Amino acid sequence: MTKLPNCPECNSEYAYEDRGMLVCPECGHEWNVASESSAPAEEGLVVKDANGNLLADGDTITVIKDLKVKGASNPLKMGTRVKNIRLVEGDHNIDCKIDGFGAMKLKSEFVKKI
Ligand SMILES: [Zn+2]
Repeated sequence: MTKLPNCPECNSEYAYEDRGMLVCPECGHEWNVASESSAPAEEGLVVKDANGNLLADGDTITVIKDLKVKGASNPLKMGTRVKNIRLVEGDHNIDCKIDGFGAMKLKSEFVKKI
């Protein structure tokens, strides 16, 4: 018998398989078995914009609200276009370069795909 992976949410080792899904009895998290074993983590990166559309490397997005930028005197204005984004892991999951600000990271929940 192969050992099932620990729960990605709470790291519980008591996850069990149920109809093709893994289920954690401790926190209730469910996830897909196939995505754990087949694709490497790098390709499993799923980043969605404020409307729930999937984003991809090279996409152009607009900012949907004014965002404060650390170290900058002006906020990043709502409606700012950002070209050629790159998806990364983490809380701020979009890596990009913005005129007047330079390289920075954005949260996908504050952007919209064009
Ligand atoms: Zn869990």
